[in-house]
Amino acid sequence: MNQPSIAHQIRQSLLDRFLSYVAIDTQSDPKSTSYPSTEKQFTLLRLLHDQLLELGVTSVSLEPKGYVLAQISATAGYEDRPALGLIAHVDTSPDFSGQDVHPQIIEDYAGEAIPLGTTAELTAREFPELMELLGHTLITTDGTTLLGADDKAGVAEIMEAVRYIMAHPELPHGKICIGFTPDEEIGAGVDHFDVKKFGADFAFTVDGGREGELEYENFNAASAKVVATGRSIHPGYAKGKLVNAIEVIYLLHASLPHYARPEFTEGYEGFYHLTHFSGDVERAEAEYIIRDHNRGLFEEKKTYLEQIAAEINAAYKRPVIQVEIKDSYYNMYDQVAPHAEMIERAKQAMTLAGVTPRISPIRGGTDGARLSYMGLPCPNLFTGGANFHGKYEYASLDTMCRAVETLVHLVTEA
Ligand SMILES: [Zn+2]
Repeated sequence: MNQPSIAHQIRQSLLDRFLSYVAIDTQSDPKSTSYPSTEKQFTLLRLLHDQLLELGVTSVSLEPKGYVLAQISATAGYEDRPALGLIAHVDTSPDFSGQDVHPQIIEDYAGEAIPLGTTAELTAREFPELMELLGHTLITTDGTTLLGADDKAGVAEIMEAVRYIMAHPELPHGKICIGFTPDEEIGAGVDHFDVKKFGADFAFTVDGGREGELEYENFNAASAKVVATGRSIHPGYAKGKLVNAIEVIYLLHASLPHYARPEFTEGYEGFYHLTHFSGDVERAEAEYIIRDHNRGLFEEKKTYLEQIAAEINAAYKRPVIQVEIKDSYYNMYDQVAPHAEMIERAKQAMTLAGVTPRISPIRGGTDGARLSYMGLPCPNLFTGGANFHGKYEYASLDTMCRAVETLVHLVTEA
């Protein structure tokens, strides 16, 4: 007799759990000065804390800064195995409302347009990835809010994996560490994360999108602030005297490679992105972000910007332009690479769950990238959600089920 798959066994429970989590508004707030940024995130954090205890996990804590940390001890005889962590964030994006989320459930999706209330439609014409989900059960918004699959899909999947593992003590495993974090969407998700207390040797964030996504490369990132100081002189009598701060910034900008910009790059191609400009003849300011997966090319991009500024100053024979560059985060790859066996393990877990691994570089940063440089190597895994941060957000229940099955295979020892 064939045993029903894990994905099949947890399906209804996962759906109910996900719907109950998205019903809780956990939007974070970039303008807040408290941590976590919004008190309402504690509603879900407290619930997760209590539910982990109910599932029989004995070591669970809710930290004052808004982290739920839990540990499931290793099966007897498996204490020497690496301690693996699973992490997801409870907050939703400040970009779109997460209040009164009323999901729609579309069974057996056949490629049709899905109305999102009266004002919008989710169509495969606009979102061709939907054609990979024919026959799936989709969970969408009603057009008035985001869905919150980012990252409540990840939260629900980790909780279902825990439930399954606790109900199957015959499945041996090393120590398993669970972490739920606040404020990821405002870039502060791991500000107070206690890597030591978390207790894992290696972890995964469950915060990706499409089925099979496994991400362990992200950008190296820096920001640059450029200030030009001009000298305003009557333009009729300006020869040899006027310094136009706007022109100075323009010189710098025009010297950057024209096609190394976000709108012309993809994959592993890095860029300079002008995010702000303001100014007049007397003073002008520009801000850039600089991105590259390759650390060497990243350093070169930064150096090049400084070099152009130095050339401009030399040409004007006075310090008309100043560049200040600050690193933001680095590619996690350098931290993950020494643990290649963990990437293999993740791929194998997917294969066991009937999922084809899809490895691609992240063109951004993740909490996992920051954790990787805090001593916890931390790639990212798919959740089954898509179109995050707006009303077109949706999730595939079928993919979510396979994510749970992947997690179970990932943290248990077959
Ligand atoms: Zn997320």
